[in-house]
Amino acid sequence: MQKPKYEIGDRVKHYKYGKGTILGNYHKRGEYYYWHIQYDNNAFGYNTEQSLKLISNSLKPYIEFTKVKYKYNPNYGDDRICKCGHPYYRHFDSYEDNYPCGCKYCDCDTFEEEIK
Ligand SMILES: [Zn+2]
Ligand SMILES: [Zn+2]
Repeated sequence: MQKPKYEIGDRVKHYKYGKGTILGNYHKRGEYYYWHIQYDNNAFGYNTEQSLKLISNSLKPYIEFTKVKYKYNPNYGDDRICKCGHPYYRHFDSYEDNYPCGCKYCDCDTFEEEIK
């Protein structure tokens, strides 16, 4: 049995209904894979793989991701104490726009408040 040809997000063309985008996952019925398709004319389809032609796939040249950035929070409380024993504001570089450089007094990287 062949593997399904398409992925969610792929642009396909049906020989009769025209262009559309693969919406949901496939279902296998007997020998055929069926796909849910949103056609450009707003119709929905549930069609076999054989009746579709791939126009363009959903793969993009770059994988996008959002980098998590940590910034100094002036409202947090400068004097709160970290598990390393040093105050919050000492985990930032005041000369470098409060860059979160880690604790000035030890090798602690990220502030975590000490629970008493
Ligand atoms: Zn610390
Ligand atoms: Zn420290």
